[in-house]
Amino acid sequence: MVKQTIQIFARVKPPVRKHQQGIYSIDEDEKLIPSLEIILPRDLADGFVNNKRESYKFKFQRIFDQDAKQETIFENIAKPVAGSVLEGYNGTIFAYGQTGSGKTFTITGGAERYSDRGIIPRTLSYIFEQLQKDSSKMYTTHISYLEIYNECGYDLLDPRHEASSLEDLPKVTILEDPDQNIHLKNLTLHQATTEEEALNLLFLGDTNRMIAETPMNQASTRSHCIFTIHLSSKEPGSATVRHAKLHLVDLAGSERVAKTGVGGHLLTEAKYINLSLHYLEQVIIALSEKHRSHIPYRNSMMTSVLRDSLGGNCMTTMIATLSLEKRNLDESISTCRFAQRVALIKNEAVLNEEIDPRLMIKRLQKEIQELKDELAMVTGEQRTEALTEAELLQLEKLITSFLEDQDPESRLEVGADMRKVHHCFHHLKKLLNDKKIFGNNTVSNTVSSESKDQDCQEPLKEEEYRKLRDILKQRDNEINILVNMLKKEKKKAQETLHLAGMDRREFRHSQSPPFPPGNPEEGQRLRLSSAPSQAQDFSILGNRSSLLHKKTGMREEMSLGRQEAFEIFKRDHADSVTIDDNKQILKQRFSEAKALGESINEARSKIGISENMAVPLMPDQQEEKLRSQLEEEKRRYKTMFTRLKALKVEIEHLQLLMDKAKVKLQKEFEVWWAEEATNLQVNSPAVNSLDHTKPFLQTSDSQHEQSQLFSNKSSGGWEVQGQGTGRFDVCDVNARKILPSPCPSPHSQRQSSTSTPLEDSIPKRPMSSIPLTGDSQTDSDILAFIKARQSILQKQCLGSN
Ligand code: ADP
Ligand code: MG
Repeated sequence: MVKQTIQIFARVKPPVRKHQQGIYSIDEDEKLIPSLEIILPRDLADGFVNNKRESYKFKFQRIFDQDAKQETIFENIAKPVAGSVLEGYNGTIFAYGQTGSGKTFTITGGAERYSDRGIIPRTLSYIFEQLQKDSSKMYTTHISYLEIYNECGYDLLDPRHEASSLEDLPKVTILEDPDQNIHLKNLTLHQATTEEEALNLLFLGDTNRMIAETPMNQASTRSHCIFTIHLSSKEPGSATVRHAKLHLVDLAGSERVAKTGVGGHLLTEAKYINLSLHYLEQVIIALSEKHRSHIPYRNSMMTSVLRDSLGGNCMTTMIATLSLEKRNLDESISTCRFAQRVALIKNEAVLNEEIDPRLMIKRLQKEIQELKDELAMVTGEQRTEALTEAELLQLEKLITSFLEDQDPESRLEVGADMRKVHHCFHHLKKLLNDKKIFGNNTVSNTVSSESKDQDCQEPLKEEEYRKLRDILKQRDNEINILVNMLKKEKKKAQETLHLAGMDRREFRHSQSPPFPPGNPEEGQRLRLSSAPSQAQDFSILGNRSSLLHKKTGMREEMSLGRQEAFEIFKRDHADSVTIDDNKQILKQRFSEAKALGESINEARSKIGISENMAVPLMPDQQEEKLRSQLEEEKRRYKTMFTRLKALKVEIEHLQLLMDKAKVKLQKEFEVWWAEEATNLQVNSPAVNSLDHTKPFLQTSDSQHEQSQLFSNKSSGGWEVQGQGTGRFDVCDVNARKILPSPCPSPHSQRQSSTSTPLEDSIPKRPMSSIPLTGDSQTDSDILAFIKARQSILQKQCLGSN
């Protein structure tokens, strides 16, 4: 058992604006515990009516300043926790801090650079590397990803699902069994056999999370995300299985709603934005007070799920993320205060070992067989399960004559056969009960003197037999006990099943392992039910791109106009720079990988040739030279191979980052598109009133500019004409050009040089081929596109002016 208080670390985020001097200082004296001092500027400090202090000091295990790299954070904070998880202890790392202070950056990582990857991908990489190195155990790894928003849990790893809002994701609920174990119903556990599979799951969850977020539901700041790595290990041949879980938790923003202003009780009186963080604080307070017996874990889903991590069987670490800018000082101080309380909580982590009864039974059966064989060798006879009728009759005759024999020296000889011995006792008991026997004393005397005689006559052999018999009996008992255990487990499982409404996708969580081995049948059931899900996993993992593609698949169904608008939106979007940058890096990495691959092949063939050439007939010097060349080649080969492996991981990661960025872009486009469509419907009388006599383009705000833009039909202008039939036709009057170069020439040059291939292809498409259909969805798509084009052109025009 390891007793340990929750470890607390602080990480200061680089400021958005230029560093404000003198707001904080870090004292990192080697001998003392490091401390962070937050110094309030005079104007702020004066505002504290009840508290004239100007500086606040907080102690942490370690404090990481603005320039701390992700690598440093992983090495110092996450690696030790991952190490103890590999040993079989539960671990939790949670990030706490206000929105924007760097929780997600620390836990998951930044979306732009490979070097920005956070604790989760680095920990996965570390764990799989260690598992590969350790061949003494068999490991299985499962991943789950849970989001808690507004007291509801959502499974972020649902593969079948097309989430467009959080409510579309499968709801996860908590069940508590009579032993107070927490079960998370509907949370899927996915097996990951490699780092790559695990990373795919992380990205799938993050993508689902991003897609489900809407401006109304700012889930990323108000929800908690728990990424869990479930690790089971077993030594070959052993019946003991170790289970450990690592929760990596990105908590909701800790900021409070009502700031009472600088003059009020700024640091004491404030409301919580997030009720479940309030409950977390209550749990922490209760745990840090010495004599509290009741800890209110059940008040919220998050504290229930993390019950083990808080004051239980877990090694827990907290990272306080701080944004130490003047306007954030009050939030930073409350984050530090919270951390100081957390640091008082003691946890007791134990190895989570379980005997797997199925394996135990197998082992005992094997042992019994071995003992039987041994017995057969000693006695020279093979035994069947039961005695034959003839043997039984013979025995009973023997017993009768033995009982009737008045000679005190007489013996009942049945040999070293437990079946016969047992049957004798059985029969004697029966005779006794039937009162067909002379008297208790006689029997007991006879039996005791009998056994004494036997003992004296064949002490050694008898001793050996007895030992074997005893062991056999013990094993029989053990099997009986185990069978009873199994029966009980089965009953329990049935009760739980009943409780869970026979839901097949229920998995054990928290205190219990992912696949509890307590009951073979239950185990089987879980294995069976997990089998298709694993098969599914493979198809998901194998088709990451197709899955992400599915997420972005809306594009395929887009009308041409919408597609074009998307291309332009994409071109003007800030993220496209990141995507392009990453594309460039990817290209470089690919060619680096290719070159490396070639060098590796070359090195390999050189090694082969050199080895073949190392014949003993060579002069010593030459041979020596060849040998050292060979060594050098081998070293080079090894270095290149390691680099290639690292490159592969990096390429994978970059691809995932790009996929994610694309999904984000697509999502933002959809939002923008919808807004444009709505604005159009509200603003455009042409659409509202179907007034076909007015050119539709002249209906919105800056008519003058538009008429300038679109009046010159002879230079390729275009308009929308109403046909008076309830149908709209968009027609190109002259050259059927959609890009009429409405702006002055310098701009138009820029325009044409930056146009996309799709854009280039558009003019060839007659506008009249995009009739308004009367189908409001399609029509509004077309109209929204026209409006969007118009506003882009306007912007470009204004920009060039
Ligand atoms: P939170 O999850 O706490 O709301 P984020 O992790 O999303 O905050 O961080 C907000 C922004 O600050 C992001 O753009 C992130 O990339 C950036 N950021 C946070 N911490 C760091 C850091 N240590 N170094 C560089 N950028 C950071
Ligand atoms: Mg965040």
